[in-house]
Amino acid sequence: MDCRFESAETHRNKCAACYRQFNKLEHLVEHMRISYHSVHEPTCGICRKHCRSFESLREHLIGPLPKQECRDIFAYRGCKFCLKVLDSPNSRRIHQEKCQFSGNAGIIGRFSNLGLRDNLAIGGGARGPQVVAMACKMVGGGSDGSLDLCARVCLIDEHENIIFHSYVKPPIPVTNYRYETTGIRAEYLRDAMPMRQVQRKIQDFLCNGEPMWTIRARGGRARTLVGHGLDHDLECLQIEYRAEKIRDTAKYPPLMKTSKLSNSLKYLTQAYLGYDIQTGIQDPYDDGVATMRLYMRMRSQVHKIQDYPLATDPQNRNNFASWRQSELERMSPEQMLEISRSDYYCWCLDSLYNP
Ligand SMILES: [Zn+2]
Ligand SMILES: [Zn+2]
Ligand SMILES: [Zn+2]
Ligand SMILES: [Zn+2]
Repeated sequence: MDCRFESAETHRNKCAACYRQFNKLEHLVEHMRISYHSVHEPTCGICRKHCRSFESLREHLIGPLPKQECRDIFAYRGCKFCLKVLDSPNSRRIHQEKCQFSGNAGIIGRFSNLGLRDNLAIGGGARGPQVVAMACKMVGGGSDGSLDLCARVCLIDEHENIIFHSYVKPPIPVTNYRYETTGIRAEYLRDAMPMRQVQRKIQDFLCNGEPMWTIRARGGRARTLVGHGLDHDLECLQIEYRAEKIRDTAKYPPLMKTSKLSNSLKYLTQAYLGYDIQTGIQDPYDDGVATMRLYMRMRSQVHKIQDYPLATDPQNRNNFASWRQSELERMSPEQMLEISRSDYYCWCLDSLYNP
């Protein structure tokens, strides 16, 4: 009897999301206050353990230190790209063929080298794409060539069509063309569109006729901007945009390496889309396509719908911040998880709010 009592006690102090065990109930409560577990976390399709990122879910399922039971089932019928678990090895095979993108973006990308594409239709009531991905290629400026200057930019829509693809003439002299990766030569930039003009065009296209100060997370005409490391791209182009409309694969917690470290786009594309980019001379179109595909995958995740999904929603302010310790200690781990909310905006919400 004693034994059974003890195991029930231990179970009581086990986090219902990440399965961490705590010696004392108060430690579990403390853990729940700071971990922001939610239905939006990457979750093991076998044991239902919540992970902070797809990287830690990958570790749990594949290694280096996998959980044995989950690893065995996953090896048999799990998709190594999106990490879903299918019904049988056969449905895994069918699923995985669709899940792995054929890396044919480069062919269209190279084709786009032929010249400037400019379909930045602005205003005039035309709604156009609501989500666009942007990618840049930088050359070097300054005395040692280490200052990044945007020399090529590409914008695509959700269907990977090119909206804008152009060389950009930087406002200051280029001291290093970084030819081995950019493939850019001085003559490509000589008569290219000046940076100021590119900046204005893209800025106007993104806002889509809406004044910057009225742009909100939901509704409105302004477009959602997808990219990888967009802070840097926007800074180089001197474009200002509202954070509410930015979806950055370098800063989205489920796609990050750790809470502070980003994964490279090259790694994410290889691991989650199953093909290679940035080999040899790089076209920003390929980067744009990869980020758009990652965004679309994250956006299409099916998570439980909650009225107030974010810890910052005013309706959730009471959940952990001001509940008394004794009240929380009376709850089961499952009840605590039930009231816990995410501390980041999950992109699955885009398909609900901006369908
Ligand atoms: Zn936990
Ligand atoms: Zn979600
Ligand atoms: Zn598991
Ligand atoms: Zn998959």
